[in-house]
Amino acid sequence: MEVELTPEIAELRERYRAFMDAHVFPNEDALSSEDEEADALVAELRAKAKAEGLWAPHIGPEAGGTGRGFLAYALLNEVIGRTVWGQYVFGCQAPDAGNAEILLMFGSNEQKERWLRPLVAGDVRSFFSMTEPDVSGADPTGLQTTAVLDGDEWVIDGRKWFSSGAEGAGFGIVMAVTDPDEKPHGRMSQIVVPADAPGIEIAAVPVMGHRGRGWSTHCEVRYTSVRVPAANLLGERGAGFKIAQARLGPGRIHHVMRWLGQMERAFELMCARALEREAFGGPLAEKQTVQNWIADSAAEIYACRLLTLDAAHKIDRGDEARVEISLIKFYAARVLNDVIDRAIQVHGALGLTNETPLAAMSQMARGGRIYDGPDEVHRMVVSRRILKAFAEGEGWTFS
Ligand SMILES: Cc1cc2nc3c(=O)[nH]c(=O)nc-3n(C[C@H](O)[C@H](O)[C@H](O)COP(=O)(O)OP(=O)(O)OC[C@H]3O[C@@H](n4cnc5c(N)ncnc54)[C@H](O)[C@@H]3O)c2cc1C
Repeated sequence: MEVELTPEIAELRERYRAFMDAHVFPNEDALSSEDEEADALVAELRAKAKAEGLWAPHIGPEAGGTGRGFLAYALLNEVIGRTVWGQYVFGCQAPDAGNAEILLMFGSNEQKERWLRPLVAGDVRSFFSMTEPDVSGADPTGLQTTAVLDGDEWVIDGRKWFSSGAEGAGFGIVMAVTDPDEKPHGRMSQIVVPADAPGIEIAAVPVMGHRGRGWSTHCEVRYTSVRVPAANLLGERGAGFKIAQARLGPGRIHHVMRWLGQMERAFELMCARALEREAFGGPLAEKQTVQNWIADSAAEIYACRLLTLDAAHKIDRGDEARVEISLIKFYAARVLNDVIDRAIQVHGALGLTNETPLAAMSQMARGGRIYDGPDEVHRMVVSRRILKAFAEGEGWTFS
């Protein structure tokens, strides 16, 4: 595959890098306070990003963004992802980015006008309501929230949790059982629900590493006889899993693209500290254990980067890349946690303070091994698909 930067993407990456250096990193502490001043600052930086043509790089101009495909976005997200605030400043944050993609792929013209346009413009936020407290999120075939058609309205009942960003959002996309008698993967549909519809109650659940205000909330959402027009069905009835796959596949790659930025930042901090800190008569950089951490981290980050670019390239080619996506999701989540942990260890007690970004990065990183499917499930997907190919006599090639 071609991983060489085209001149256009190389130039664009430099523009994102310059913007991050000038406007995002200097404001990182202020943004992290997540108070009203931080909100005003985000709004100011978003206006700047729009004025510089850097807005919404995850989605193409047909939806109001500046996206140029998955591979280009991977290369930009490596820069944007160095701090969690980058995605908000450039309007490509989860879960809005994934919701925009499925609205673009499956939405009616009316849904695109009403929900997609303002979402991509950053005028509203959204949430994605799939996981439920009472059944396994790793195996969503058992989800219990229902949507029953009553005349020309869906009536939704159920309880969801970990609906990220639901507090203060304008609308959500809900996965609900509409056809209980169908096979497990044909029982559910996705429905767009305005957040202010009567019968919706939203309450933030405190989560490690997330301050829990507005877009950084992960919420329990109760739906009690919530009525929405039948026309709010997204895509076809019974296509909930198909749409979820279309959303979560690329969405996982979005996460990993940002993680590359996190890994590289932690790696740079680890190397700098190893060179400057002295113990037992010399710099930490001369201790073999530290050298091993640096070498292992470098190898693993290279591997993650190439795997991510390869998966992005395949998605651009129209391939679902399911094995590649699952493989990189569980592998990169582990590398992300390992590299940040080694960087903290090299910093000693300093690594646990807020004097470096590592402590906050570490707390955020842990969720990566669980959200959008736990490591164990992605490993299962990879091995099952590979073994099936062997069982059918095709074997597996790595090209
Ligand atoms: C920060 C964060 C944000 C999230 N945002 C959203 C969101 O916006 N919308 C949404 O709908 N959900 C969201 N989630 C929920 C997330 O997708 C689920 O937590 C995830 O799918 C796992 O489901 P569960 O928590 O119910 O774990 P369970 O399904 O109960 O699984 C628990 C554990 O069992 C193990 N396990 C499960 N299956 C297997 C297996 N086959 N083999 C071996 N071990 C297994 C794994 O270790 C797993 O961690 C978010 C979660 C987090 C942490």
